[in-house]
Amino acid sequence: MSEIGRYGTVLVVSGPSGVGKTTVCRQLLAAMPDLHLSVSCATRAMRRGEQDGVDYRFLSRSEFERRVAAGDFLEHAEVHGNLYGTLREEVDGRVAGGQDVILAIDIQGARQVRERLRGSLVGRCAVFAFLAPPSLGELERRLRGRGTDSEAVVAQRLANARTELAAWPEYDYLVVNGDVAHAVATLKSILEAAHAATRCVKADESADPLGLFAG
Ligand code: 5GP
Repeated sequence: MSEIGRYGTVLVVSGPSGVGKTTVCRQLLAAMPDLHLSVSCATRAMRRGEQDGVDYRFLSRSEFERRVAAGDFLEHAEVHGNLYGTLREEVDGRVAGGQDVILAIDIQGARQVRERLRGSLVGRCAVFAFLAPPSLGELERRLRGRGTDSEAVVAQRLANARTELAAWPEYDYLVVNGDVAHAVATLKSILEAAHAATRCVKADESADPLGLFAG
């Protein structure tokens, strides 16, 4: 049987700040090296240990706004007083070429992606996963444990988390991040199932993608 041409999957992972999106997504990347983890743009200050172009592309607010006006973003949102966004160039060509792309973005951003990709080729192959903490108490412990944010920032993130957690039914999957390895394995299974999804087969390029009727 010939290799089946397929579009890449866009895996959108959202969840409240501190739930472990970055850790889970980085471990997923280690387990599935062909994935691309979209590097977001952000206007917040760089944290200790972060690298420009690796963790985020750190932009000034004016540069970010210029790129919004230029239509460069697939989605963008103001989160905890800073601007964050996904560049179209992180997603479009890759998915068309068959590569999977993970977006670790907030809930407002995920809503935009869902709306904007509706009916499109990329949207057909998008899946949405909500990463939830095992409890609010555990989320608070993780936010404080990072030690990177002030008390006021932690309090704002916790308050936002209560509202954000209510958004889980908008997603295709609910993944509880109690144990990181388990959450990573679940996301890996979600991607593997998407690889077998008929909607992602490049059937429009050939009426016979499986070669069943050839010769
Ligand atoms: P942090 O400042 O802790 O790295 O991220 C704060 C929040 O911004 C997190 O909830 C994170 O998911 C979200 N975020 C990071 N990148 C993006 C992005 O490109 N778009 C949107 N909408 N949110 C993002």
